[in-house]
Amino acid sequence: MKLLSVIVPCYNEEENIRDFYDELFKNNSFFKEKGLEVEILYIDDGSVDKTIEEIRKLHEQDERVHLLSFSRNFGKESAIYAGLQKAKGDLLVLMDADLQDPPSLLPEMYGYIEQGYDSVATRRVSRKGEPPIRSFFARLFYRIMNKISRTEIVDGARDYRLMTRQVAEAILSMSEYNRFTKGIFGWVGYETKWLEYENVERKKGETKWSFWKLFVYSLEGITAFSTMPLTISAVMGAFFCMLAFILIIVIIVKTLIFGDPTSGWPSMVCIILLVSGVQLFCLGIVGQYLSKTYMEVKRRPIYIVKEDF
Ligand code: UDP
Ligand code: MG
Repeated sequence: MKLLSVIVPCYNEEENIRDFYDELFKNNSFFKEKGLEVEILYIDDGSVDKTIEEIRKLHEQDERVHLLSFSRNFGKESAIYAGLQKAKGDLLVLMDADLQDPPSLLPEMYGYIEQGYDSVATRRVSRKGEPPIRSFFARLFYRIMNKISRTEIVDGARDYRLMTRQVAEAILSMSEYNRFTKGIFGWVGYETKWLEYENVERKKGETKWSFWKLFVYSLEGITAFSTMPLTISAVMGAFFCMLAFILIIVIIVKTLIFGDPTSGWPSMVCIILLVSGVQLFCLGIVGQYLSKTYMEVKRRPIYIVKEDF
């Protein structure tokens, strides 16, 4: 018998815990046919509602259900890491609690693993049910990201992914504090099969990602998987130096030939504003990397456990 670990990060998902369980075991025959034993690991990311109670109830009925809860909200990335660490399975799958990752895809995904793929990932081809502005910025992010990073980051990729133990170990070996999972999966490599499906809307409850949270997350992705912004700021610095040098010569020559002192403070103000703006901007970029380095150097744990069964 092979063991399949289903890892489910949950943050305030009280309405979805039971539904997820029911939905997963609805097509029970598949697991039996393939000789798969299943364990469900709910990773509670510091929920403040009844999520933990729901999981405990399920655990009492079915010992295949497990819980690992955090002392506070550490973010989905940390929950994924914790789940991979806790899982004992030969195969591991990451799924959202809100049923946006349809369990009905599992047989197909498993088929590809049998064919020899190391991991089977999913991407949604539509963004139905999402605010248009959010879709626009999401697309923009992926376009920029793939230009400036050598790690491939797939547009619309979900975290729904079935992988072998070997891939999971590779991901666990990346113990960085700033975890951008989409990049980490690309970085570790291995043969990955991509499945596409239409976006499924969240069953119950609301998305945990505000626009601002997504924006900060995207900056995290850029600093974690690209140093291009640093190069751009260096190039900008060099460009402004050159420009200044040329202008100095022009002014000196003009003064010597025409003897007319350059007038006009408005132009001066504009130049000062522009250049100091660029300086601050570049300083900000350096600051981003420095702050990430600072957090990394502290070597803080990625999560702190409250309860584990
Ligand atoms: N999640 C989490 N910690 C967080 C935010 C979200 O564990 O800080 C979980 C959430 O419970 C869900 C999954 O991550 O199972 C995806 O979250 P959500 O559905 O809100 O994101 P979306 O599908 O809108 O991208
Ligand atoms: Mg969701």
